[in-house]
Amino acid sequence: MKKRVPFFIIGLIIFISSFQSDKKSPLINIDQFDSVFTYDVRYATENNFLKQQVYDCEQCLLIPEVAKALVNANNEFCELGFMIKLFDCYRPVSVQKKMWEIYPNPSYVGNPYKSGSIHNRGAAIDMTIVRLDSTELDMGSDYDHFGKEAHIDHPHNDTIVKNRQQLWGIMKKHGFSPIRTEWWHFNYDAKNYGLKVWDIPFDCKE
Ligand SMILES: [Zn+2]
Repeated sequence: MKKRVPFFIIGLIIFISSFQSDKKSPLINIDQFDSVFTYDVRYATENNFLKQQVYDCEQCLLIPEVAKALVNANNEFCELGFMIKLFDCYRPVSVQKKMWEIYPNPSYVGNPYKSGSIHNRGAAIDMTIVRLDSTELDMGSDYDHFGKEAHIDHPHNDTIVKNRQQLWGIMKKHGFSPIRTEWWHFNYDAKNYGLKVWDIPFDCKE
């Protein structure tokens, strides 16, 4: 005779497993820190190269070591009259796969079927700096512009070069490195975030 598992047992298992996966999440929300960031997370809108909303809400999740380094960098920018504007932090692997389907170019999108992106490990940030009145600094191209104007070695006028140096100088001081093709992307230099990629949905109830 076939044994049936009572519904309340199934419910209990689902409840316990969801609690455990919450507990195991290595990511923290940057808004837990007493530091003012501004946000323009375009993947939580349709204004992005995918032309679709792929995040349920605008959040910046990172592993704790990276979050603390980013807060330190933001505090230093604030002393100089700027603040960080966040475009993207942790990115679930499922979203990385969608990006790869639409734009399979490893210069701009990490291949999720190989090593993926440092974003999938909660250790990369896409960002710029704005003045405290929220006005933008000219960085030579828009965010997610897949062209050579976005490259860090592309020749630009003095204002853009100065703005980029301002951005990179403080980020490097706090342990972040830019990548060649995207002026807005920073990987955290520590190697201890390891190889594991995560597929944790955003908790949009907060
Ligand atoms: Zn990035």
